Amino acid sequence: RAKKNISRNYEYYQQQMEDETAERLALLRTLRQDFALDRLQLWYQPQICLKNRKVIGMEALLRWPQQGGGFVSPAVFIPLAEYSGLIVEIGAWVLQQACLQLKELERQGFKDLRIAVNVSMPQFRSPHFVESVINCVGEFQVKPELLELEITESVVMDDPKVVISALKELQSFGIKVAIDDFGIGFSSLSYLQQLPLDRIKIDRVFVNDIEKVNGAAIAETIVNLGKRLGLHTIAEGVETVAQERVILAMGCDEVQGFLYAKPMAKDELVTFIKQQKK
Ligand code: C2E
Ligand code: MG
Ligand code: MG
Ligand code: MG
Repeated sequence: RAKKNISRNYEYYQQQMEDETAERLALLRTLRQDFALDRLQLWYQPQICLKNRKVIGMEALLRWPQQGGGFVSPAVFIPLAEYSGLIVEIGAWVLQQACLQLKELERQGFKDLRIAVNVSMPQFRSPHFVESVINCVGEFQVKPELLELEITESVVMDDPKVVISALKELQSFGIKVAIDDFGIGFSSLSYLQQLPLDRIKIDRVFVNDIEKVNGAAIAETIVNLGKRLGLHTIAEGVETVAQERVILAMGCDEVQGFLYAKPMAKDELVTFIKQQKK
C-alpha cells in the first residue's frame, strides 16, 4: 500500500514537472517572439550620491511587458533567457540601448551620468564578448567610463579565469565594473582580490535588515571592506529614511532604492533628472 502511494506520488510529481517544463518552454517561445518584435524595454533606476544628493547614474533593468498589461518578472524570464542562451542576443541589445541612452543624456546636457548594465554568464562565454562591448562603445561614441558592467558573485565563481580576464580587458579600456548582490553569493575573498572592481553593491537583504544587529554587522563589514579596497560602495533596495540614516552613518557612498526612485521608462528618466537638478 505504501509502495502504491509512493508510486502515485511519483507520477503526480512527474506530471507536475512536465507541466512546468512545458509552461517554461511556452514562455521562452513568447519571449523569443517578443524580443524579435522589439517588445522588450530597458528601464532605468537612478543611483544617488549620499554626500550631495545628486543623481550620479542609473542601473538599466529589462522589462518585458505582457499583452494584457503588467510585466513578466525578470526573476522569471532572465533565468529562462540564460538557460536558453537567448540572453546573449538580448544582452547585446541591452548594451546598445544603454549606449543610445548615454548619447541621449549627453545631448540633454548630462555628460557625466553613468549607466550600469547587468551581465550574465552566457555572455562571458559567448565568443568575442569583450570585443562586442568595446565595439558597441566605439560605435555610439560614448565615454567608456560612463558604462558599468554589473556581475554577481555566481558569475565570477562559475568560471573565474574567463570572467576575470574579460573584465580586466574591459577595465583597461576604461569600462567600470561592479559586483552585484554582494554578500548573498559564495564568492571567495581571494577572487575579490583578483577581480578588477570599481564598485561593490550591497545586496538589499542586508539593507532590509540593517536596523537589526546582524544585518548592520554584515552591511558595515561590506562598506569597510570596500573602503579598504579603495572601492565605491552602493546600498541597494533602500526603502526607508531609517535605513538611509544607518547606511549614511556607516560611510556608504551611494544609494539606490524605492525611497529615491523606482525603475522608470527612458522618457521619464530625463524628466526625473531635470527635476533633481533644480
Ligand atoms: P539586480 O541587478 O540586483 O537589480 C535590482 C532589483 O531590485 C531590480 O529588480 C529592482 O527593480 C529591484 N529594486 C530596486 N530598488 C528596490 C527597493 O527599494 N526595494 C525592492 N524590494 N526592490 C528594489 P528587477 O528589475 O525585477 O530585476 C531583477 C533581476 O533581474 C536583477 O537584479 C538582475 O539580476 C536581473 N536583470 C534585470 N535586467 C537585466 C538585464 O538587462 N540583463 C541581465 N543579465 N539581468 C538582468
Ligand atoms: Mg544589478
Ligand atoms: Mg542587485
Ligand atoms: Mg539580483
